[in-house]
Amino acid sequence: MTTLVTGSNGLLGNALRGVLSPDTIFAAREDGDLTSFEQTRDLIESVKPKKIIHLAALVGGIGGNSSHSGDYFRTNILINTNVLEAARLANVGRLLSFMSTCVFPNDAPYPLNSANLHDGPPHPSNFGYAYAKRMLEVQSRAYFEQWGLNYSVAIPTNVYGPHDNWSLDDGHVVPALIHKCYLAMVNKTPLHVWGTGNPLREFVFVDDIARLTSWMLDNYFETTPLIFSSGIETPIYELVTAVVQTMGFKGEVLFDTSKPDGQFRKPSDASTLKNLVGDFEFTSVSKGISDTVKWFLNKYPNIRQ
Ligand code: GDP
Repeated sequence: MTTLVTGSNGLLGNALRGVLSPDTIFAAREDGDLTSFEQTRDLIESVKPKKIIHLAALVGGIGGNSSHSGDYFRTNILINTNVLEAARLANVGRLLSFMSTCVFPNDAPYPLNSANLHDGPPHPSNFGYAYAKRMLEVQSRAYFEQWGLNYSVAIPTNVYGPHDNWSLDDGHVVPALIHKCYLAMVNKTPLHVWGTGNPLREFVFVDDIARLTSWMLDNYFETTPLIFSSGIETPIYELVTAVVQTMGFKGEVLFDTSKPDGQFRKPSDASTLKNLVGDFEFTSVSKGISDTVKWFLNKYPNIRQ
C-alpha cells in the first residue's frame, strides 16, 4: 500500500514524515523532473504507489509571481498535468493535491468557499500561478467523471512551521518575522514589521495540516476541494507579540506602513471540515510559534532562504 509524496522537501512534505506510514516514498526534485512527462512516468512506474500525495509545485512570493507569471503558469500546469496523467496510466486510484486560498477570485465573497473557486479572475499579481493551480480541481474532477479516479484537492490556509522558507524578502510572514527578530536581537536593532499589523490571517501549524492530510487521504473522496481551515483569524500584531515574547526580544518593534498590508483579511469557510472532523484540535498560535522558533534556533544558519 505504498504512498508516494511528490515535492517532499518543503514545509508540508517534511511534516508528513511524522504521520505517514514508514513505507511511504518521499520524492524530491533530484528524483525526477516533473515538468517532463517521461521522467514523471518513470518515477511513478518505479515506485508503483497505490496513493499519491502531490505537493510539488513552483511557489513564490508576490515579487516572483508578478514578474514571472509565465514561468509560474507553465511549470505548474506541466507538473500537475504530468503527475495526474502518469498516475492515471499507472492505475493509481487515489491522489491528493494542494492549492492555496490565494488562487480564489479576487472578489470572492467571504468566507471563501470551494463553490466559488472559478467565479472570477484571481488577483492580478499571481494570475499565472492561480489559474494553473485551479486546473488541478478541473483535472481531478474530469478524471473522476471519466475514469472514476478518486483524485481530490485540499486547500490549506496560511501554513507555517519548521522547514519553511526563511527568506527575509520573499518568505511568508511567520518565517520572515522569526528570522528578522533573530537578526534584530543579534544586531541590537529594531524589528521592522511590514504594514500596519492590522490584517488578519488564518494561521495553521504545519503538523495540523499533516494530520489532516493523512486523514483526508483515507476519508474524503469528494471532488469538491476541502479547505483546511481552523476558522480562527489572528491579527498580524498578535503574531508579532507571540514571536517577540517567545524569542525574548526586548528591542523596539516598528510597523513600516510603506510596506504592503496585502489583503485585509481572507477568511475561509471552516464549516465543511468541522462537520467532517468535529473534534480536531488545532495547535494554538502560541504553541505553534514556540515550536517553530525552537526549530529555527536549533538549525540556524542552516535554513532554507
Ligand atoms: P499573504 O498576504 O497571506 O499572501 O501572506 P504573507 O505571509 O506574505 O503576509 C501576511 C501579512 O503579514 C501581510 O499583511 C503582511 O503585510 C504582513 N507582514 C508583516 N511583516 C511581514 C514580513 O516580514 N514578511 C511578510 N511576507 N509579511 C509581513
